[in-house]
Amino acid sequence: MTKERVIQIMKENNILPEAGFGQNFLCDEDIIHGIIEAADIRPGDTVLEIGPGIGALTEPLSKMDINLKCIEIDKRLVSYLKGAYPDVEIIDSDFLKLKDYGAEKVDVVISNLPYYIMTDIMMKVFEEAVNARRIVYMVEEAALDRILCESSTKSYGPLAVVSELYGNISIVSKVPGTCFVPQPRTTSAVIRFICHENRPDKELIAFIKKCFMQRRKTLSNNLKGCDKEKLNKWVKDNFIVESIRAEAMEPTDFRDLYNALK
Ligand code: SAM
Repeated sequence: MTKERVIQIMKENNILPEAGFGQNFLCDEDIIHGIIEAADIRPGDTVLEIGPGIGALTEPLSKMDINLKCIEIDKRLVSYLKGAYPDVEIIDSDFLKLKDYGAEKVDVVISNLPYYIMTDIMMKVFEEAVNARRIVYMVEEAALDRILCESSTKSYGPLAVVSELYGNISIVSKVPGTCFVPQPRTTSAVIRFICHENRPDKELIAFIKKCFMQRRKTLSNNLKGCDKEKLNKWVKDNFIVESIRAEAMEPTDFRDLYNALK
């Protein structure tokens, strides 16, 4: 999808980008190709695209021998996509509210994420697409820090912990603002997860969120109601000091503690 084509589709369908929905449409063939390639899609895969927009990724995906599901919140775009891609399943919904979309059958997730809800979408996918093999996202470059950061840093939180436990993450490419219509002020990045077989389930993800509930509080304070004897033993065995906070723990520590408290 070139810049000219994006503008043409917008004009023909009377679509002005809605900033409130994070609409910056991709218009660079190389980046589009790079995203599809990074997803390593195989014939027969079920591929979930979140926020197809005017179809920059949907177009090449629609030509593949796959079961493609696209979820779009903007009704104007839904109506355009249904006309342009009659063979693709276009789901007219807010992804964050969507249930029963066959999440456990999804092999690959692709999204040029609406940046205003990046974390919520990523966490929902982690919780629900439990059998996904690959996940490829376009994110704001500034947000990489929240996904790839080390423990004991300001950005470290549930998103970084779950991301690290979920798969091997790599940065596929950096994407300048000129690759979008309209142009955002910031640079973006394409990231890919090669998902681990043994990944955190919904319960472990909820536990990790609970550990970080109040960042300045100790683990013991955030985990009220758990077996204090087991918790204290685990903390002493692993950290010696008792007043440990979640931000000082490595991603694998959370799984270890979760299992110890069972
Ligand atoms: N995939 C297109 C592309 O690459 O050009 C559009 C990407 S644009 C950054 C984000 C898309 O997500 C928009 O089409 C927007 O309407 C859609 N979107 C925003 N919030 C959404 C939500 N809660 N559920 C589903 N789609 C959403």
